[in-house]
Amino acid sequence: MTQQPLQKALHNFFAAEHIESYAPVPAEYCVFNADKLRRARVDFVPASAVVFVLPYFVRRGENLSAYATSKDYHLFAAQLAPRLTACLQQVCPEGHFRVFCDNSPLDERRAAVAAGLGVLGDNGLLITHRWGSFVFIGEILSDREPTAFGPICPPQKTDCLHCGACRRACPTGCLSDHSRPCLSALTQQKAPYTPEEAAIVKTAGSVWGCDACQLACPLNRPQGGLPVSPIPFFSEERIERLDRATLDAWDDAAFATGAFSWRGRAVPQRNIDLLYPPSGMASVPNDLQPIRRTHTYTEKKED
Ligand code: SF4
Ligand code: SF4
Repeated sequence: MTQQPLQKALHNFFAAEHIESYAPVPAEYCVFNADKLRRARVDFVPASAVVFVLPYFVRRGENLSAYATSKDYHLFAAQLAPRLTACLQQVCPEGHFRVFCDNSPLDERRAAVAAGLGVLGDNGLLITHRWGSFVFIGEILSDREPTAFGPICPPQKTDCLHCGACRRACPTGCLSDHSRPCLSALTQQKAPYTPEEAAIVKTAGSVWGCDACQLACPLNRPQGGLPVSPIPFFSEERIERLDRATLDAWDDAAFATGAFSWRGRAVPQRNIDLLYPPSGMASVPNDLQPIRRTHTYTEKKED
C-alpha cells in the first residue's frame, strides 16, 4: 500500500531516531484533560494522536532505578519535539501538530493501549508488546485524521496477565494496600522521612526509584530477556551507582542532566547519606526494624 506523505515522513523521522513503536489513534478514543489542553495552548481541535514510546532500559542500576541510570529523558524529548513538529509541518503546512512527552493533556497510558501498543499492567504501568514497561510515552496531537499517519489498530486485549508477580515483588506492599507508600515516590519526596520511611528506603537500598514490580513482570521479557533500548541517548554517559563521590563531583550543569535533578541535590544526597552514612554520622537506629514483607495481603487467584 502506498504511504501517505505524513505517514512516510513520520516513518523516516522515527527510523532515524531509532524509535520503533508508534501508532495513530482517533482522538475520540483518548481521554483529554481540558485544563491541560488550555494551559498548553492547543489552539485546534485534535482529531488524532500518534502515540510513540521511548524504550530506555539499558542495564539495571545498582542502587537506582533503570531510568535514572541514563540522562534525563526530558533532554532527549526537548530536542526531538521541535524537529518532529517541523518535519510534519513541512509535509503538511496546513496541519496543526503538537508534540508532548510528559505533562501531556491526554491520558498517555490509555491512549497507548487504545493505539494497540500494549496493555495496562496491574502495577499501573503501560506494558508495551515490544519493549515491556521500561518506556517513556510521547504523542503528537494533530487536527489531521489518524489514518493520515498510518493504519489504525483494531481493538484488542487491553489488560495484563493479572499474575500477581508485581504485587509479590513490591517491597512496600503498596500494590496490595494503597495506604502504604511506593518506594519510588518515597525516594523522591522532599519532606523529611519518618523513622519508618527511613527504614523502608534503607532496607530497599535504593537511592532513587524502584523497579521491583517491573523486573518481576513476565510481560517485560517478550523475547526472553529485558529488551535494550536502541536509542543511543539512553546509553550515553550512564551511571549504574549513585554515591556521594559521584554526586559531589558533578557541577550544577552536570547534575542538571540527571533524571533526579528536578528534585535538587538535597533529596538524592539525603538518600545516599541514609544508605551509606559518612563516618561520624549516625545510621538508622538499630531498633527500627526493616518492614520488608511485614505487610499481609490476600493473594489474588492466578488465572
Ligand atoms: S515501584 Fe516499587 S514500591 Fe512502587 S509499586 Fe512498584 S514495586 Fe512497589
Ligand atoms: S506482574 Fe503480572 S499482574 Fe503485574 S503487571 Fe505484570 S502481568 Fe500484570
